[in-house]
Amino acid sequence: MPLAQRKLVIFDLNGTLLLRSPSRAGARQIYLRPYARSLVAYLTHPDVRNWLDCMVWSSAQPHNVSQMVDRVFGAGEGAGKGPLLRAVWARDTLGLSRAKFHQKTQTTKDLAKPWGFFAPTNDPTKSAFPTHGPETTLLVDDSPLKARLQPWNHLCVAEYDATSRIRDLDAQVPDSSTSASGAKSQKRKREPSEEEEEEEEEAAATSGEPYDQTLLAVVGVFSHIRSVANVAAWMRSRGLVAIMDGKESESTESEQSDDALPSDPAQWFTSPRLLAAWAERGRAALRELGIDAASAIE
Ligand SMILES: [Mg+2]
Repeated sequence: MPLAQRKLVIFDLNGTLLLRSPSRAGARQIYLRPYARSLVAYLTHPDVRNWLDCMVWSSAQPHNVSQMVDRVFGAGEGAGKGPLLRAVWARDTLGLSRAKFHQKTQTTKDLAKPWGFFAPTNDPTKSAFPTHGPETTLLVDDSPLKARLQPWNHLCVAEYDATSRIRDLDAQVPDSSTSASGAKSQKRKREPSEEEEEEEEEAAATSGEPYDQTLLAVVGVFSHIRSVANVAAWMRSRGLVAIMDGKESESTESEQSDDALPSDPAQWFTSPRLLAAWAERGRAALRELGIDAASAIE
């Protein structure tokens, strides 16, 4: 298959690539989602930069965005002048009124804005930018509401929250009865329901992976869309779910696979088998480039 044109990925920060500690605790800590380092190593690899453009779009305040971006993508990237990120956008790019800018309000990321930004212009500082649109773009964001104007360009991911972070810290402790793990477990706001525990167990059984592997799956999706001619059409035609089709036909227990698939394809990540299948693709893509798939809980 001939390679299609360049692609654009737009990253949300909080809940997608990282978790910020609550503000009441003084200076807010930034905790990276597992495999964030591998994701950034993938994005910065010369082979990937040949076909993939990246930017960040967050609804947080500009000074916080710059700090978070530096932490995830490397010092200096927060200013939005690269070398990796083509742009870094914060709350001031969401078109909010002055009052709403300072309030917690439901915001929308209208992809027409970045597409306009990347459109050809007479501005010499922008001349190196390729054109992007619905056929070439994925917004990676944990909030379905923010992407409601262009849902077929949205790669929705599960929110990385305090519970996910505690689960990942606990997974690091070999003996779950140690005091460190016990103390952390007490911080859980609530006990997981039986259903959630079953899901976690199934996820671990499917992949043998104790950590949140969302960002490995994101790498898997990126490596796949490289050769997809129309990203929005691929999403609309259940491309994210179709990865299981081959596996189902090979499987002798096809009933089980059916149960594991989400009824809404946009919620693909709720299926542990589907998430594990994309994470496996991500591992393969990293391996091919000689990048270590390390969870690196920090
Ligand atoms: Mg978010």
